[in-house]
Amino acid sequence: MAPFDNVDLHCHTTASDGRLSPAALLQLALDRGVDLLAITDHDNAEGHRQARAIMASRAEDFSSLTLVSGVEFSTLWRGLNIHLVGLGVEVNSEAFLEAEQQQAAARSARAKTIAARLCKKGLPDVYQAALEMASSPTAIGRPHFAQALIDAGVVKDFDEAFNKWLGSGKIGDVKVMWPTVTEAINWIKGAGGVAVLAHPHKYKMSRTKLCDLLAEFSAAGGEAMEIAFCQQRGDEQRDLARLARQFELAASRASDYHGDHMPWNALGKANQIVTGVTPVWEKYSLGR
Ligand code: AMP
Ligand code: MN
Ligand code: MN
Ligand code: MN
Repeated sequence: MAPFDNVDLHCHTTASDGRLSPAALLQLALDRGVDLLAITDHDNAEGHRQARAIMASRAEDFSSLTLVSGVEFSTLWRGLNIHLVGLGVEVNSEAFLEAEQQQAAARSARAKTIAARLCKKGLPDVYQAALEMASSPTAIGRPHFAQALIDAGVVKDFDEAFNKWLGSGKIGDVKVMWPTVTEAINWIKGAGGVAVLAHPHKYKMSRTKLCDLLAEFSAAGGEAMEIAFCQQRGDEQRDLARLARQFELAASRASDYHGDHMPWNALGKANQIVTGVTPVWEKYSLGR
């Protein structure tokens, strides 16, 4: 079988904070020549399920594209919001459905807390606006609040919304509801999937702390880490590849595409994985 050559194992749809519907995302994947795709919405697989159904009903249109199931779980580790991608999860398994339900409840409760905290600081109540922007009450996330704050004239753009109100350590960064890294790994493995640490370069932590996280992730059964991204320098990926080897993790390729409003994260445009590490889709036969 020919190897996959344009793999993208991390992107979002309207089932979480992405701008494209699953149908539109699939079309973009075809246009970009992506041949192995995982839709990894935050804390649910609804986008994946819809995409799967669309592909099944129009098989001939999608002969060049293989879809692997995915999710991006929000977790809490030493006070930080850490994201774990689950690939090849059985999305209709009891383990997965339970995880999805728990995260949905956490997300809805969190949205109310975020809104209340912003109000307490004297900002307008944007709960309803944020809720209406999300495709469902459980899909709601901080980007919906960011957009609502922009629309209300509180901030001028996403950067300001996150830097002042929603980003790490700010008043709207509510994360107490999330499970531990170990719990999320257990959900993923319980659903027959492969656990992947998402965007390790994005966490604002020291090298020592990142190594602690990788050690704990690996010891808890985590199998891979994302190392190849869009607009990334070669030395940045080589550094992550060294960490992957050190902690015996396979490597993943991830655009983290959310929509064309963030053109720097373009679907199918992440760097190719460097040599010396094992691509996660090869090691675990994803899509085969
Ligand atoms: P949530 O899932 O509700 O915790 O929201 C996290 C999401 O917010 C991330 O997945 C990103 O899509 C988005 N995000 C986080 N930080 C920023 C930022 N500084 N600027 C724009 N979007 C961000
Ligand atoms: Mn997101
Ligand atoms: Mn993420
Ligand atoms: Mn993501």
